[in-house]
Amino acid sequence: MSSVRDVVVVGSGPNGLAAAVILARAGLSVTVLEGQPSSGGGVRSLPLITDRVAETEGLLRDVCAAVPAAAPTSPFFAEFDLAARGVELIVPEASYAQPLEGGRAGIAYRDLERTVERLGVDGPRWRRLLGPLSTHAAEVAAIALSDKRSVPRGDPLRMARAGAALGRSTALMAGSWGDGYWRTEEARSLIGGVAAHTISTLPSLAAAGTASYLGALAHAPAGWPLVRGGIGAISQALVADLLAHGGEVITDHSVRSPRDLPPARVHVLNTHARVAADLLAEPYRSRLRQLPLGAGVCKLDYVLSGPVPWADPEVVRAGTQHIGGSLAQMRFAEADVAAGRHAERPVVLLSDPAQHDDSRLGHSGLRPVWAYAHVPHGSTQDVRPAVEAQLERFAPGFRDLVVDCLVTPASRMADHNAAYPGGDIAGGLISMWHMVARPGPALDPYAVAPGVYLCSQSTPPGPGVHGMAGVHMARRVLRREFKIPQIPSLAPQSTERITD
Ligand SMILES: Cc1cc2nc3c(=O)[nH]c(=O)nc-3n(C[C@H](O)[C@H](O)[C@H](O)COP(=O)(O)OP(=O)(O)OC[C@H]3O[C@@H](n4cnc5c(N)ncnc54)[C@H](O)[C@@H]3O)c2cc1C
Repeated sequence: MSSVRDVVVVGSGPNGLAAAVILARAGLSVTVLEGQPSSGGGVRSLPLITDRVAETEGLLRDVCAAVPAAAPTSPFFAEFDLAARGVELIVPEASYAQPLEGGRAGIAYRDLERTVERLGVDGPRWRRLLGPLSTHAAEVAAIALSDKRSVPRGDPLRMARAGAALGRSTALMAGSWGDGYWRTEEARSLIGGVAAHTISTLPSLAAAGTASYLGALAHAPAGWPLVRGGIGAISQALVADLLAHGGEVITDHSVRSPRDLPPARVHVLNTHARVAADLLAEPYRSRLRQLPLGAGVCKLDYVLSGPVPWADPEVVRAGTQHIGGSLAQMRFAEADVAAGRHAERPVVLLSDPAQHDDSRLGHSGLRPVWAYAHVPHGSTQDVRPAVEAQLERFAPGFRDLVVDCLVTPASRMADHNAAYPGGDIAGGLISMWHMVARPGPALDPYAVAPGVYLCSQSTPPGPGVHGMAGVHMARRVLRREFKIPQIPSLAPQSTERITD
């Protein structure tokens, strides 16, 4: 780097890249420093190579995220226009499924009425709860992805309706979802599986809010999509735009101390609050350390010789499967993890992308299957035996199809992404308070020290592939540090820089 840059961004996750794209399009000189050999952070696809599977098989694994459910309704990606940049989102017939014992399963089809019909006696309640949310999915997303400090833009009447539906559903789910509201285990556990995305105890207000938001997206037009060819296409499109606007990305550059930071007018940290804290002096360091660490995950990248043999064949229609059994079983498992114990029957999230995207099949027909299990923070355990025991309950014969499996215990997750210390993939604990006061209570959660900003999932709106923490942060940086009043256009055809 020859001269002092306007902005140096540490980390090339979706939030860091969204910020970098905006700042570069505003005419600033931007350098992104990435600790890994490849850019993209939680949105990367890399060759899936194991002792038994060679690179020539042509398999890719989504290293972290695989299902960018928040992307289609993210205001950032809506304007950035992934489709126009050649990123194809595939919409499975069903967004998520909850296999149950006895060959049964709850299925959340993208089509709300189909879901209602299959749920039988619980169908009308499902419609009453999720119908108003899904018909206002864009507004629900605008609220969920806001900075929690300003009123999100949108038609006031629709926003009010979305807010009311979100509030009602969150209150209802947090209060009585397991005890009497639903009559069938299919409906009860379907909601529980979505709520379990918070990786914390069930029920809770935060889990209910998450279930309401993700539940709304599941029945929206784009559902919970997959990305043709792997999720890495999203970060490649972001990097291409950044380069086209004069920015640069330097990989293999870990920032472990302030000495590793080149001079810049503004430094932006796209990393976990705890990692960012270590780069700052007091009192800024202590403020960032207020955000408690979340539980961990153990990642499993399977290579299978055939599709997952779900006992209920309807489960294959979903892009994501929540494995955990009944709501009571998932509650039990999540309580164990929150208490620092390994669950005997852990909650597992799984996706078999080749079921919806032929391009994911290897040359000899092998397929990658993406999964992760909830484990205590910092766990060093390989939980593959427990995960396979879970899968055998709902997909008998799963083990017979396993060709190989790459296991990344929670304690090693940071080897692939420094922003996931101890396997905390959510940038800190998720609770209702910590979704607002993230990383800590502050009017501006992004400005963390003079000239230093944080824009990871440790800031509002929190986890997910949406880029919106980057947007909220960039808006403040442009205004405050560079006196640029507005975010530039993100449209693909708009290649001009505002100033030069
Ligand atoms: C196993 C797994 C499954 C997931 N599944 C989904 C899913 O299906 N859908 C979904 O929406 N979300 C999912 N997520 C979460 C999603 O990936 C994150 O919410 C999202 O990537 C956060 O974006 P970010 O920009 O804040 O940070 P990240 O994407 O985490 O990127 C941070 C970047 O900063 C780099 N970095 C950090 N510290 C330093 C440093 N000191 N020096 C240099 N570089 C540094 C990292 O290498 C990384 O590239 C998953 C995550 C994991 C791990």
